[in-house]
Amino acid sequence: MSSINFNTTWQYAPAPESTDHIALKEQYELFINNKFIKPKEGKYFETLNPSTGKKIASIAEAGEADVDAAVKAARNAYNKVWSKMSGKDRGKYIYRIARLLQERAREFAVIESMDGGKPIRESRDIDIPLAAAHFFYYAGWADKLEYAFPNRQPKSMGVAGQVIPWNFPLLMAAWKIAPALATGNTIVIKPAETTPLTALKLAELIQEADLPPGVVNIVTGAGQTGAAIVNHPDIDKIAFTGSTGVGKIIQNAIAGTRKKATLELGGKAANIILEDAAIDQAVEGIINGIYFNQGHVCCAGSRLFVQEGVYDEVIRKLKARMETLIVGDPLDKNTDIGAINSKSQLGTIERYIQSGIDEGAEMYQSSCELPKTKGYWCRPTLFTNTSQSHKIVKEEIFGPVLAVQSFRTVEEVIQKANNTPYGLSAGVWTDKGSKIFRLTNKLRAGVIWANTYNKFDPTAPFGGFKESGFGREGGLHGLAAYLKI
Ligand code: NAD
Repeated sequence: MSSINFNTTWQYAPAPESTDHIALKEQYELFINNKFIKPKEGKYFETLNPSTGKKIASIAEAGEADVDAAVKAARNAYNKVWSKMSGKDRGKYIYRIARLLQERAREFAVIESMDGGKPIRESRDIDIPLAAAHFFYYAGWADKLEYAFPNRQPKSMGVAGQVIPWNFPLLMAAWKIAPALATGNTIVIKPAETTPLTALKLAELIQEADLPPGVVNIVTGAGQTGAAIVNHPDIDKIAFTGSTGVGKIIQNAIAGTRKKATLELGGKAANIILEDAAIDQAVEGIINGIYFNQGHVCCAGSRLFVQEGVYDEVIRKLKARMETLIVGDPLDKNTDIGAINSKSQLGTIERYIQSGIDEGAEMYQSSCELPKTKGYWCRPTLFTNTSQSHKIVKEEIFGPVLAVQSFRTVEEVIQKANNTPYGLSAGVWTDKGSKIFRLTNKLRAGVIWANTYNKFDPTAPFGGFKESGFGREGGLHGLAAYLKI
């Protein structure tokens, strides 16, 4: 039978999402006390569209004095209003944010894809609905905290300083803001410097929801602004999501202070395919695990382990499926893989790809066409013939690069999968429930998916072991992280 070249057989007509319904300003200020105010030092930076390399807007850069003003606003709101308000009333505000977000979901999805580079299908179907779901879920808990933690008299902590990454900008903001508000804390949050726009749109929506001034303050900037939040003496709780490197800096910075912290850090997940797995479904799971959101996912299944008996079949089917992936305009509804978030991240990914080649692994890249625009693009990439000592196997790449190894026995794969400083997530594909239990009991990972991958729900706690951090977000665990119990 002749092989089918899907690329030439199926050419989809462009299906771009329209952008005429979105409202963006040319310049964004800091959101403090429910007002947009200029940064004291007058500094601004640009946020770019990674699919074109062009500027979208100027963004205020918060210095220490701005962060101090934001923390003062949050403290004042905490003391005078938010900590005194009933849970029922706090819940009403959070429901209001959730509903407004749902109403404006399309606008948020388009802006998320423009600013971050992720395919509109993902921002439309995953990021924004899940962000709204988090607000709905935690709104429901606001007046039930004593039932969530019976006989424990849960109390809010005070002012939460929150710092988030660029890979799920609005969703990470929702993971942080919703439980903090539900538990009666006030907030100073900083989005990542390459993706500040949806957080700033959320600020508009918070204004519209008429939250008491100072309850949520959104300051923009890069690492120095984040450090100013972390080091501010009047912050009670730090919630950080980002790289393990920065997580360690933060842990050092707050050591010996009264600040509580949760750190959600990097990962290098093992996705494990056993011989009795449904192979076609597993191949879809592998694709979803590593190429979803350009591999910009902390829990990406970036290490693939395939049992020897099905190794050839899995690799053959995986390569065929990779050929059908469309790398393209994030706003096109046909796009599977959008733009890499920034020039610097593309450089990092390319250096890892080169190290894989240099260390002797065998590279396969989809032959797909890359867009002709000046954006940051990377073909879905697969490395076979890899070993545990290769950099591409050991280190988090945060791009669409998969390193594959084979294994013979379940014991062997448990050892190999656990041979990493990270412990955020893993995947197991098998027909046998008993094997799922055996593996999930022995894999050192906070989240383990069985016969699926990258599934998220506000009710399910998420977080890591080892250098993937500590603390959990989502579910009841996510509430506990913002309470003195
Ligand atoms: P990053 O650590 O470079 O930056 C994260 C945030 O920290 C940004 O807002 C940044 O401005 C800020 N920051 C940088 N230096 C700082 C400092 N010294 N003090 C305080 N804040 C500082 O990470 P990134 O490149 O934006 O994101 C990718 C990383 O995030 C990956 O390692 C990924 O695995 C991780 N991540 C983890 C989870 C999780 O839930 N565990 C979720 C998403 C992303």
